[in-house]
Amino acid sequence: MPDPVTVRPGAAERLSRMVQLPTVSAEFEERGLADFDRFRDLLAELYPLVHEHLAFEQVTDVGLLYHWRGAGDGDPVVLMGHFDVVPAVDDDGWTFPPFEGRIHDGSVWGRGTLDDKGPLLVVLEAVENLLADGFVPERDVYLSFGGNEESHGAAARAAADLFQDRGITPWLVLDEGGAVVDAPLPFVHVPAAMVGVGEKGIVTVRLSALGEGGHASTPPATTATARIARAVHRLSPNPFPKRTPRSLRTMLSTFAPHTRGRSGSCSGRSPRRRGSPRASSRASTASRRRSSARPSPPPCSRAAPPPTCSPPAPPRRSTCASPWARRWAPRPRACGA
Ligand SMILES: [Zn+2]
Repeated sequence: MPDPVTVRPGAAERLSRMVQLPTVSAEFEERGLADFDRFRDLLAELYPLVHEHLAFEQVTDVGLLYHWRGAGDGDPVVLMGHFDVVPAVDDDGWTFPPFEGRIHDGSVWGRGTLDDKGPLLVVLEAVENLLADGFVPERDVYLSFGGNEESHGAAARAAADLFQDRGITPWLVLDEGGAVVDAPLPFVHVPAAMVGVGEKGIVTVRLSALGEGGHASTPPATTATARIARAVHRLSPNPFPKRTPRSLRTMLSTFAPHTRGRSGSCSGRSPRRRGSPRASSRASTASRRRSSARPSPPPCSRAAPPPTCSPPAPPRRSTCASPWARRWAPRPRACGA
């Protein structure tokens, strides 16, 4: 096992200094770009080895791209983050002013500490510490930081275009995601890292309706406006179908031993899709891999009595412990039933 990397002290103070720059991308027009430029200069001051050893290029006004050359020629890793924040005003109920960067009780307080200056700092701390240790990555690593993620991320798009133009296809892209937090879900009672592999996007739907004109004193039963309203109303209860990709199932089954009640003994297996030989062969391969990696916990049983620490399960539903656990289970068959 490699020796642990020496961690440079002072990360909290460095995060505090980042928070003190109000890089509010929604307020570009009022505030201008000065704080974004100051943020870039601050990184150069706080991470001297990163700036000495990594090639830097600016992508658009607010995109920062660093290139760390690796020993091999495999496709690169891209570590992403953003340093812009959403607006905050003092009388929004902040414990400490949002851009003061107060360090209190061992924590840094303020706008952007979690989203996303904290995760960005973690990437830079890791690279700086590794460089101090003389580490050379096996493959190239890019650090791609955007300054307008909260206003639709044109810098990140420009960086992606730049990769494409240069014929670079990343091996892995890791962007901001769930934090390591205490009790991340109501049924998990230990600090845990949330794994996210997707992000909701936006969709634009254009609706048009035609109606008969007429005098306001004799309106028709249904107007074009009312039909549009009805269509919008009909769209709203139609989210995308739920899916439980393997990474999510793995995360939940990793949480399971840390939950109270019977969910701690659930296998967390997802149901096979009926009539899908490919799905079932994939599921059995994944299941074999899992079972060879570690002993599987016993599956839940519908016949088992409901757990004592949660309300009785409704008939013919999963016996996973809590209502939350049931809700997060893919379907009643999630416990191997
Ligand atoms: Zn974010």
